[in-house]
Amino acid sequence: MPDTSVYFAELAWLNAASSNSESGSAGIHRGAVIEVAGDRITGVRTGVAEVPGGATVLRGLTMPGLANAHSHAFHRALRGRTHSGSGSFWTWRQQMYSVVERLDPDTYYALARATYGEMVLAGMTSVGEFHYLHHGPDGVPYSDSNAMGLALIAAAKDVGIRLTLLDTIYLRGGLADDGAEVALNETQQRFSDGGRKHWVERVSGLDDSVSVRIGAAIHSVRSVYPAAMEDVCEWAAARHAVVHAHVSEQLAENAQCLARYGVTPTRLLAEHDVLDERFTAVHATHLTSADVAAYGAARCTCCFCPTTERDLADGIGPSVTLRAGGAVLSLGSDSHAAIDHFEEARAVELNERLVSNRRGNHDVGSLAMMATVNGHACLGWHDAGRIEVGALADFITVGLDSVRLSGTNDDDALAAVVFAATATDVRHVVVGGTVVVDNGRHRSIDVASELSTAIRDVTS
Ligand SMILES: [Zn+2]
Repeated sequence: MPDTSVYFAELAWLNAASSNSESGSAGIHRGAVIEVAGDRITGVRTGVAEVPGGATVLRGLTMPGLANAHSHAFHRALRGRTHSGSGSFWTWRQQMYSVVERLDPDTYYALARATYGEMVLAGMTSVGEFHYLHHGPDGVPYSDSNAMGLALIAAAKDVGIRLTLLDTIYLRGGLADDGAEVALNETQQRFSDGGRKHWVERVSGLDDSVSVRIGAAIHSVRSVYPAAMEDVCEWAAARHAVVHAHVSEQLAENAQCLARYGVTPTRLLAEHDVLDERFTAVHATHLTSADVAAYGAARCTCCFCPTTERDLADGIGPSVTLRAGGAVLSLGSDSHAAIDHFEEARAVELNERLVSNRRGNHDVGSLAMMATVNGHACLGWHDAGRIEVGALADFITVGLDSVRLSGTNDDDALAAVVFAATATDVRHVVVGGTVVVDNGRHRSIDVASELSTAIRDVTS
């Protein structure tokens, strides 16, 4: 018999009713009893007046766990070091490369473990790690060529977060403004497997497990040539794995792609059969109307990362037209300028208000869907992100008694959380039926202390 437990949520947002839709209801239930056996939800009842005997009481708003659909764990070391002053995405990238030089399987593990710990404290129950730092100095593989990916897997397991390891192919340094290929520089040699067949061979050595999915990623049209994109998609189709790619984050990328191929990055991906329901375009900031239509027609996901996109002065992606055209939206913290999905979710709506001079572009239920079920689905976790019978028992409780949220009406609890909560309001996190955060504290690691040590080790 699996372990069983019963939770009594004072208030709950249950998005199960809208599970086949990308839109969500903001409906709040009072007195929700959630029964768990092993790692699954086995019972959900609402409108229960009395706390059942032996139940754990969850005070605040209980909702499905959050999915961080785009992460580069090691970028967390740059927080606070790169935001002020001028510079561009490209000068920021140079600073990011200086951290890469300090990373090996041990320091990568320590930094990822602490960063994933911060994510769990923020209510994230799964993360998609867009992992491209595969090899040692000069691109020489470690004795186990998957040592860096395995370090991420170990880090995620330690802190109790589900991981989709988006193993990333990266084969050239980029494209020049005239479309010419740029060779890998010294840092980038660590990202490259030296050829598409070598990528397939290495990634095929990684296996799924209860809390880990292996997915694929195409770094960008700058770094991967079209024949390799096709190989990645063929591998992913055979494994039923998801595929992600950075797309059109920067105008320069569009210009370089047009110079080389005569089409936009999205069009190039479409021409090589990358776009389908398993595909997620990360950023999707600078799109033509034909690009937007292509994502909708193929039912792709577009992962917005607003706190990173504003930090790097990328721009604001067309979230309203993408959704209207049929694309699904999810959210990522990417460079970890912040790790706070309430902030990412409200930024999608608030950025759109600034662009359109109009309010109410995305209702609060839809924003919460981006942060939960949509994110899980684009990471290959189709049975997570909902509180319903049969789903993975991954849920969080946000306290409503902080100075930010005190005074909230029960019926407005989801709107209050999406528009006013911060990550520190997350009190309780359950992943796979196991309590990993209890009253705001991670049960197994001291996250702040580990962040301090891990970041010092790669920056001092
Ligand atoms: Zn990224």
